[in-house]
Amino acid sequence: MKKNNWFEKDAAYIWHPYSPLKQFSEVIPIVSGHGATLTTANNQTIIDAIASWWTNLHGHAHPYIATKLYEQALKLEHVIFAGFTHEPAATLSERLIEQVALQQHKVFFSDNGSTAVEVAVKMALQYWYNKDIQKRTIIAFEDAYHGDTFGAMSVSARSLFTKPFDTHLFDVKFISRPMGNGRSIDELKHILTQPGVEDIAAFIYEPLVQGTAGMLMYDKEEMNELLQLINERNILLIADEVFTGFYRTGTMLASHQLRIAPDLICLSKGLTGGFMPLGVTLCNARMAEAYEQVDRSKSFFHGHSYTGNPLACTVANASLDLLLMPETQESILRINKQHRIFQTQLDSYAYAKDPRICGTIAAVDFAPDAQKQHYLNAWRDVIYEFFLQRNVLLRPLGATIYIVPPYCITMEQLEKVHNVIFEWFEWNEHS
Ligand code: PMP
Repeated sequence: MKKNNWFEKDAAYIWHPYSPLKQFSEVIPIVSGHGATLTTANNQTIIDAIASWWTNLHGHAHPYIATKLYEQALKLEHVIFAGFTHEPAATLSERLIEQVALQQHKVFFSDNGSTAVEVAVKMALQYWYNKDIQKRTIIAFEDAYHGDTFGAMSVSARSLFTKPFDTHLFDVKFISRPMGNGRSIDELKHILTQPGVEDIAAFIYEPLVQGTAGMLMYDKEEMNELLQLINERNILLIADEVFTGFYRTGTMLASHQLRIAPDLICLSKGLTGGFMPLGVTLCNARMAEAYEQVDRSKSFFHGHSYTGNPLACTVANASLDLLLMPETQESILRINKQHRIFQTQLDSYAYAKDPRICGTIAAVDFAPDAQKQHYLNAWRDVIYEFFLQRNVLLRPLGATIYIVPPYCITMEQLEKVHNVIFEWFEWNEHS
């Protein structure tokens, strides 16, 4: 049957991510975006307080990025990246190496956060293969989330997301995240004294904050100690900065706040300022050296049709231009300052547990009872709707309410986001 409008076409044909096929609530049709706001087909303006899945840095439909994209589209939209190259990718690579520093040496392009992780895991495993050294085991953090493809799922926690596939995922050794009680160090030391330690190839970690696990923030000193111990054992370090990159934690990378530099770094999300899908995996000279071989069978045989897409590289360059402007850097500091005031104010609410801040990220758990909260928590949908009715997009992780705003969010808009969260806690305490 012919559909009358595009909402009906959506309902008839589209399978949305992370959503049950039998929709419990309607998807919201969005017709435009401007700054930190989205406008619905009903002309409702919503503050995007989670930066559209943590991607948006400078606001929706930013005219500077849009213009650069248009100009590039008229010049070159795409070209095969094996055996060919173009200026936007070369310029972006040089700028990323400069900004990231940490002795990174080469940039490998892919399409999103999961593929950036896949590339890093494959590069690390093949590093040992190319050196004719047998090492296959990977260490990761409990509750880790690194993406939805098979390699990325394997190095992530076994969870609701992975359950149907668990028997197909490769084995990983999991340790606790560093919480300042020394547990993660004890668990690591235990692994390092067990038979099979010589088989450990790499450690993958989200530095400073575990995003999807519930915006869980680490003890920096314990994280440093952990990285040092691993580094001393000649185990490769893979920093998954897909979420934490591009000043999300207050510095260009979260790794800049830690003492040990990784061998491989995964970036995506904020890389294009939220405009287009793009992922990169950066590696240091040690890693690249294992691939600088005359023997072609030791090449890294990985690539996607759209690897290094010129349009995506162009918007990434434009986003970097904006990110490095003093106004943006000031906004990042201002957001952190506003969050800190919000954090102290949350102390007066009985159900607000463990308010926490890292750079531009703010999170608090809604804890009306002692029950352990999880992703399919019954509160989640209630909280989500409560905020949407007040024109704020916040998408709780279980009962964890968090804010990851675009850096262009105004002081007033962020105040409104903080206020609706206070309202949620007040409403619950008095009902
Ligand atoms: N790594 C981390 C730390 C992430 O937070 C995510 C996405 N939330 C991914 C990897 C996967 O990225 P993508 O959704 O772009 O595949």
